[in-house]
Amino acid sequence: MRQNLDNWLDAYSARAHNLSVSEVRALFAVVSRPEVVSLAGGMPYVAALPKDLLREAYDAMMKSNGDLAIQYGGGQGDAKLRDQTRELMALEGIRSSVEDIVITTGSQHGLELLSGLFLDKGDVVLAEGPSYVGALGIFRHYQAHVEHVLTDNDGMIPSALESTIKALKAQSRKIKFLYLVPNFANPSGVTLAKARRAKILELCRKNHILVIEDNPYGLLFFDKPVPDALRSMDEEGIVYLGSFSKILAPGFRVGYVLAPPAIRDKLVLANESAILCPSSFSQMMISSYLEHADWKGQVETFRGVYRERRDAALSAMEEHLPQLETTRPDGGFYLWVTLPDGLDSKAMLPLAVKELVAYTPGTAFYGDGTGQNKLRICYSYPTPDRINLGIKRLSTVINLQTELQETFGKKGKK
Ligand code: PMP
Repeated sequence: MRQNLDNWLDAYSARAHNLSVSEVRALFAVVSRPEVVSLAGGMPYVAALPKDLLREAYDAMMKSNGDLAIQYGGGQGDAKLRDQTRELMALEGIRSSVEDIVITTGSQHGLELLSGLFLDKGDVVLAEGPSYVGALGIFRHYQAHVEHVLTDNDGMIPSALESTIKALKAQSRKIKFLYLVPNFANPSGVTLAKARRAKILELCRKNHILVIEDNPYGLLFFDKPVPDALRSMDEEGIVYLGSFSKILAPGFRVGYVLAPPAIRDKLVLANESAILCPSSFSQMMISSYLEHADWKGQVETFRGVYRERRDAALSAMEEHLPQLETTRPDGGFYLWVTLPDGLDSKAMLPLAVKELVAYTPGTAFYGDGTGQNKLRICYSYPTPDRINLGIKRLSTVINLQTELQETFGKKGKK
């Protein structure tokens, strides 16, 4: 029998010891059972994408570019797709040159490349509190310290950013960049208010801190478009990340980075070193899709699907858990829920799975172990009925835990 002993433990790099199972991925096996309503993983509802659109894009691509699509390509990515991404970014006020865009294997890969370029052990990354679990995993892998900046329903608070920078500077800590998800953030669902954007940029400019703007959800608004991207206000101090995962499909694994020329050159080298080139096949499929399909109409369809699910999630919260505070996102995939004091969402998860519902515990979204009384609900994948059922099941667990806490927790403190 094969044993799960690791004979190479002392051979790993120091960095490798910081690779740990993400709390989100660890859940996948359990929650993919059909009887469990999963409000956990942030999966796009790709069933809302008519597959004929992809078939047509494929046929057109093979007809015009068949051999190139199955060949190696350039390390910076396909020139035509880079040009097409300019149109996407222009929807959020960004003016860009095709020269400054690098295609990556999803924006996750963009974050990985940027972390490799900038982070040494002990460096500080500033991030919202809470922040995207996948980014935190990369920063941890590079042995960086994540300093969370206080965030409310309008996103990161500029005065909190200012005092955090001041305190870190007083300790002579090296701040490498500020990582931000300004629109419909993962996990909070909140959007950085327009008035705060300029202030945050001003603080970063003044303190010579690079900003990484990660924006996979910006086009998935429900009522009104998001404020212009940070990148539309500053070209030199910002690296912008975009992705096709949420507005098309994550299976292609295509994202893009818009960076100032010096960083862009390094990114191309890093891309070539890591993967030679991004997938020609995926890039050309997407390029053909953008050319031939009504992609804006499809984004509108996705918006409608997610708006209906957001509504289902909020009304289920009002019906079953009216006492709990939750964010009210205007786009994207997520609700961020605050549990009563003393409840621990991680400890509660096995009980929830027993009740056939899953969510992501709040601690996954902090680098410092906080967030115990928070949890993320992702409404993008289950149907509205299943969302209601899932939140109803969740209320059974939360209400019981609250009762137990009120009865025994307080007694225990006497
Ligand atoms: N950034 C954020 C905020 C995300 O939510 C995700 C996916 N969940 C990513 C980046 C990675 O997306 P991808 O690699 O599929 O482009």
